[in-house]
Amino acid sequence: MSDSPRVLIVGAGHAGGTAAALLRQYGFEGPIALVGEEPIPPYQRPPLSKAWLKGEADEDALTLKPAEWYAEAGVDLWLAAPVASIDRADRKVTLSDGERLPYDILILATGARARPLPVAGADLSGVLSLRSAADAEALKTALGPGKRIVVVGGGYVGLEAAASALALGAEITVVEREDRVLARVASRTLSSFFQDYHQTQGVTFHLGARVTGFDGVDGKVTAVRLADGATLPCDVALVGIGALPNVELAAGCGLALADGIVVDGEARTSDPAIFAIGDCTWRPMPLYGRELRLESVPNALEQAKQAASAIAGRAPPPSEVPWFWSDQYDLKLQMAGLADGADEIVVRGDQAAGRFAVFHLREGVLTAVEAVNAPPEFMGGRQMIGRQARVDPAKLADTAVSMKEVAAGQ
Ligand code: NAP
Repeated sequence: MSDSPRVLIVGAGHAGGTAAALLRQYGFEGPIALVGEEPIPPYQRPPLSKAWLKGEADEDALTLKPAEWYAEAGVDLWLAAPVASIDRADRKVTLSDGERLPYDILILATGARARPLPVAGADLSGVLSLRSAADAEALKTALGPGKRIVVVGGGYVGLEAAASALALGAEITVVEREDRVLARVASRTLSSFFQDYHQTQGVTFHLGARVTGFDGVDGKVTAVRLADGATLPCDVALVGIGALPNVELAAGCGLALADGIVVDGEARTSDPAIFAIGDCTWRPMPLYGRELRLESVPNALEQAKQAASAIAGRAPPPSEVPWFWSDQYDLKLQMAGLADGADEIVVRGDQAAGRFAVFHLREGVLTAVEAVNAPPEFMGGRQMIGRQARVDPAKLADTAVSMKEVAAGQ
């Protein structure tokens, strides 16, 4: 037996699974238990709305590690094992079946859940959300040629699922509350480009529209009703209106909360024996001098690295520029940095050709880049954001000047 502390990870998603793997990779030899609510080992969620929905990826392509890895690595995997409470005084976690698991160090990787739409008929069969593999399976089964899908919410989930469903022959209508798609996550330039592109493919949009309820027959959804009186007939309604952080366990044991579990730059909560990582956290972002909650895989990986480094006694990893990606049709959207607070926008490339980037500057410093089918702009932009580089807007806009030259010229 080693005298290393006993690590218990609550949440067997991308963040939790990665933390377990990194602890072993970093040489941590103590006991690790990984406890998850879902019945399957940790898997990647991004393909669920893309390749997996279109039938282009199987379950093996989703898994983070092969099933046998956990036993080989000495990670005690508890599946279909929801946690009911955390006893910080006793350092024990109680599962919903009453089983109590001890810890010396706890990592909360509880993630986020799909935000429910509180309107009449939301419990009808055929009103779906998309967060888990089980959700994706239900949606996949309901898709097919000629199926009418109404997507509520024009965010990443909605637009990626719309593109995938269209590829399977479905008819798609997107209902969005804001006056543009991707309103929470992208600039106006990007929003109108993506809306136009989806329309060209055959998607219909209702913007600035409020859903008041779902109609059904025999318990199954038949239409989505809007506040302006419109009724949109459908076979399936997919609700993708954002995510809520799973903070109930942290709240129940008195950890500090904001819009997520409050952590420091090492992913440590207000209890030094408890870390929290991924979508459920409210974290510092030194580059931008503020705290925020980030819902993204790169964020989950960065915080898994922070926690595993601290537990394994390694130096803290360097802080990263936040980044995101989304694949829709033949468009690869890559974004780095945080776009709010810009005082100058520079567009580089050709929107009509579907290859361009939108750069966000604040007082001459690059703060964010949104790149469509433009990896050099994304890579160069991400590096410059990390360096808080001052940028010459004229050079940046000039595609005759390579991104390498732009980056080197600062
Ligand atoms: P999202 O990006 O927050 O988009 C939800 C959209 O739905 C927002 O524009 C929101 O507008 C709108 N909305 C909210 N309430 C509505 C209502 N009642 N009727 C119509 N529209 C409404 O969230 P999401 O697309 O559901 O994604 C959920 C999570 O999955 C996020 O964590 C996301 O980052 C993650 N995800 C990421 C990717 C990726 O990174 N490529 C892909 C799939 C999923 P308001 O701003 O007004 O609320």
